[in-house]
Amino acid sequence: MLSKNFWVIFMEMHKADVVIIGGGIVGSSIAWHLTHAGCKSVLVIERESAQGKGSTGKSMGGVRAQFATPVNIQMSLYSIPFYARFEEVVGNPADYRAQGYLFLATVDPYSVMNGFMAGAAEHGATLWKKTEVTTITRHHGGAYTVATTRGPVNTSTVVNAAGAWSAQVAKFIGIDLPVEPLRRMLVPSEPFSDFPHSSPMVIDMSTGFHFRPEGRGFLLAWNDPEERPGYKTEFEPSFIEKILIHAANRVPAFENLPVNPKRAWAGLYEMTPDHHCVLGPVAGVPGFFLANGFSGHGVMHSPATGKILADLILHGTTNVVDDVSVLGFGRFASGKLLHETAVL
Ligand SMILES: Cc1cc2nc3c(=O)[nH]c(=O)nc-3n(C[C@H](O)[C@H](O)[C@H](O)COP(=O)(O)OP(=O)(O)OC[C@H]3O[C@@H](n4cnc5c(N)ncnc54)[C@H](O)[C@@H]3O)c2cc1C
Repeated sequence: MLSKNFWVIFMEMHKADVVIIGGGIVGSSIAWHLTHAGCKSVLVIERESAQGKGSTGKSMGGVRAQFATPVNIQMSLYSIPFYARFEEVVGNPADYRAQGYLFLATVDPYSVMNGFMAGAAEHGATLWKKTEVTTITRHHGGAYTVATTRGPVNTSTVVNAAGAWSAQVAKFIGIDLPVEPLRRMLVPSEPFSDFPHSSPMVIDMSTGFHFRPEGRGFLLAWNDPEERPGYKTEFEPSFIEKILIHAANRVPAFENLPVNPKRAWAGLYEMTPDHHCVLGPVAGVPGFFLANGFSGHGVMHSPATGKILADLILHGTTNVVDDVSVLGFGRFASGKLLHETAVL
């Protein structure tokens, strides 16, 4: 016969004050900011066996303050000084490299994500890897049960930080979140010394082609307008010729830039219709928060996002940006979309 204790253990539900779905740079930053604001009971759920297998591990790590909308600029103006002091504040390096006074910099997204998560864990957060969220139930009275492949978790607050998969997670509670995956390809060159390695990240705003020094070569990026939404992460070799034309047009020395298609890679942008992220609560679904749709800016804006989400969850308000409601989910229904022209 089974002992009474067996049933007590078996019946035990997992609990957390805040459950964050997705352990990329955004989920990790939110966990860090929450735990450092005193909220210790935070559970981050990541379906992969390691963090960084989503967009974060594919990113170029570019950081900039030049945007067309005040809210994007304000997010950068929180994030850039945070990155400059990352190691001092978080305790791990971010490989932050500022270039001149151009307000252009780079970080290593993987190190940032790991730094945030390690700091959050030291302050009480738990990370479940290899655990997929399969559905979410909202009970009368407002509490949630998050069903996972490791068993159910009860919580009062759920954060969707599921990157390019965030629309699927939003569907679990009946929300149509307009975030679409869009393939994005990067091409590293072989060692090349005919252009200075001291150069900052250079952006050709007329085409969106941009590059930065990477090791002894350069890392090239360009947003192919022919790309269509979908979960495609294989690299398309014909892209090399297209990007090299833009490269040589901008930097004549790149006409002879050697590249190896085998070292190129692709990942997913999480695109919204107005190329701005979706942050904050959802009207009619209290306790459910969104941190999605960064449209190519998720690494650079992850510090501001973490702070904003922690502020909104714990205090219902934030002063990181003047008016966070412009980034709310409600803008898609009301038609009050933002307009960003500096999308790369
Ligand atoms: C090629 C490329 C270059 C880029 N360059 C830049 C750049 O220069 N600067 C910049 O700021 N941004 C850049 N970005 C964008 C940036 O990488 C993303 O905006 C950012 O990484 C998003 O972070 P995230 O944590 O939201 O998503 P992710 O890193 O994708 O994390 C989401 C996580 O959620 C997990 N998940 C999904 N569904 C579930 C589920 N049901 N249960 C459990 N876990 C789940 C996934 O496994 C994933 O690990 C680039 C992106 C790409 C692809």
